[in-house]
Amino acid sequence: MVLIDTHSHLFAEEFNSDRIDVLKKAEEVGVKYHVMPNVDSSTTEHLLKVSRDFSHCFPLMGLHPTSVKNDFEKEILHVEEMLTHSKFYGIGEIGIDLYWDKTHFEQQKIAFRHQLRLAKKYNLPAVIHSRNSFDEIFEIVDEEIDSTLKGVFHCFTGSVEQYRHIQEYKTFKVGIGGVVTYKNGGIGNILHEISLNNILLETDSPYLSPVPVRGKRNESYNLIYIAIRVAEIYGLSIEDIATQTFINSQELFNLPIE
Ligand SMILES: [Zn+2]
Repeated sequence: MVLIDTHSHLFAEEFNSDRIDVLKKAEEVGVKYHVMPNVDSSTTEHLLKVSRDFSHCFPLMGLHPTSVKNDFEKEILHVEEMLTHSKFYGIGEIGIDLYWDKTHFEQQKIAFRHQLRLAKKYNLPAVIHSRNSFDEIFEIVDEEIDSTLKGVFHCFTGSVEQYRHIQEYKTFKVGIGGVVTYKNGGIGNILHEISLNNILLETDSPYLSPVPVRGKRNESYNLIYIAIRVAEIYGLSIEDIATQTFINSQELFNLPIE
């Protein structure tokens, strides 16, 4: 059984002391590949170092909405420059976050739209972070969507209606993470309405740990708890879930793996 953690910040300093052990432990339960979304220019160097050190960890390039400040134009230039220099497997993570801080809402919208256009230009999937902001994100994606724009709404915790909106784009999937294991996480209650062809599995390490390790540092090993819960909901074996989500992930990221 092979699983892909499609959203892990394995390059974060939380893993500096035991990154090799974290990867080994993940592999024991079949989590062999890792997709790593960038945060901003301060994390790029380490992101690239980790992807060089571990050939099964694949980097994305993008500016995270919570890193959009007054200097966002400089940050966007950095993203553009990096895209011309190195190989990346997607644009991420990008989006709008109105939970932590609304101060730079206008700048967040500009940065998001601009990076969606980069995704189209480079024919790469967009990894979208949405927090208290589905309407604002839909407004922009509705305008930018065309046959070349594809991607994933990472850590999807929306409603059935919001899922239907995403489904109408035809080229977007939803990332299912630790929240699916929470008793009142919501997404666990509507997952059966979501086609298995449209989901990816992710941890969002080091954040959002699933039950039964909630509250601790999250790591890719815990993807197994998410896969087990997803298998329960669909009434399928965990191997079936692994096989289908592997195909889904590859459809989007096209990683150079078997
Ligand atoms: Zn993330």
